[in-house]
Amino acid sequence: EIKLTKASISAMSPAAVVPSTEIKVPKASDEASVATPDPISRDDNKVLKERQLGRVYEQAGVDIELARIIRQDMLELNPNVRWTDIAGQEEAKTLLAEALVMPALMPEFFKGIRRPWRGILMCGPPGTGKTMLAKAVATECNTTFFNVSASTIGSKWRGESEKLVRTLFQMARIHAPSTIFIDEIDSVSSARGGNGEHETSRRVKTELLVQMDGVGSTLTKTVDGKDPVVMVLAATNLPWLLDEAMRRRLEKRIYIGPPDFLAREALLRISLNDVAVAEDVDLEDIAKKIEGYSGADISSLCRDAAMMKLREKMRLLQPSEMMNVKPDELNTPITMKDFEEAMRKVQSSLSGADIERYVQWLADYGSA
Ligand code: ADP
Repeated sequence: EIKLTKASISAMSPAAVVPSTEIKVPKASDEASVATPDPISRDDNKVLKERQLGRVYEQAGVDIELARIIRQDMLELNPNVRWTDIAGQEEAKTLLAEALVMPALMPEFFKGIRRPWRGILMCGPPGTGKTMLAKAVATECNTTFFNVSASTIGSKWRGESEKLVRTLFQMARIHAPSTIFIDEIDSVSSARGGNGEHETSRRVKTELLVQMDGVGSTLTKTVDGKDPVVMVLAATNLPWLLDEAMRRRLEKRIYIGPPDFLAREALLRISLNDVAVAEDVDLEDIAKKIEGYSGADISSLCRDAAMMKLREKMRLLQPSEMMNVKPDELNTPITMKDFEEAMRKVQSSLSGADIERYVQWLADYGSA
């Protein structure tokens, strides 16, 4: 039996997926379609898998060149973020587990009235963990993970953008269960329309809407002949730019906000995991003082505090003397004074007015 793994997809060279002339889609159970010499060496195995995939792509009408680009730029092989790496966001984790992880693990159960949401939108200010949550979903349910920036599709692949979107969804079905994470979804789905809207964006948006409607389609089977489970998870910092058509497809909308007190404290601990911290450092006190900081702000704060000693040292030294500094001299525990100085420099990147705007949008359009 030949199974395609994420590793084998990435290991393929473009030439390896040049389709053969055979049209039949091989299933894992269909032994006649794949001649498996026995004993099989590792290399033989790889070539066979590549050939098999080439045939599946050909059968599904996948554009081989675009498939190569997607594998290279958008297929993330080892997102390797666990739920426990993310501080706070407990509600979002529960919701994502219910909406995305469970349906991928138990597709039989999630049918009819229990059918999965067509799409999920995470919205909230920048640096609050939306990308991390998407990666955790893929890691925890071991789905094939496509990480796509909507603004890149609209700009970089001009001319090919629509076809790229189509190919992306085809591949997601073939390699299902898959998660397609679309970041900055607002950049293709703005409500502005009319003359202001770029022609390419408009066409990409239309194709995205069409593909999202077809996510539940069972016409294309997975590589081992099953009905595909493809989940769309989108993120935006600007939810108010989404038009109604896109909103309707992202049925479940969840707010990813700045961390609360406990999450800030947890995030400080996660960020300082691999450095020494002096006894006078009171993380609870710091967590209180940094209310309104985003997760990304807290990471920068810790990085800055951890660099203080080095900076102090560099101020006192001539460039020629720096070569002689030993890492051990700098590797002293971070003190409360380091943190206080870092807090003066790294301020919250979010304003109360920004947060209010998300809360208001979710009051109008949220569904969580
Ligand atoms: P977003 O996608 O919401 O803009 P990211 O998920 O890319 O934000 O987060 C940016 C960085 O901030 C991460 O790489 C991580 O270092 C840190 N971060 C933000 N939120 C969290 C969190 N809840 N837990 C742990 N780290 C976080």
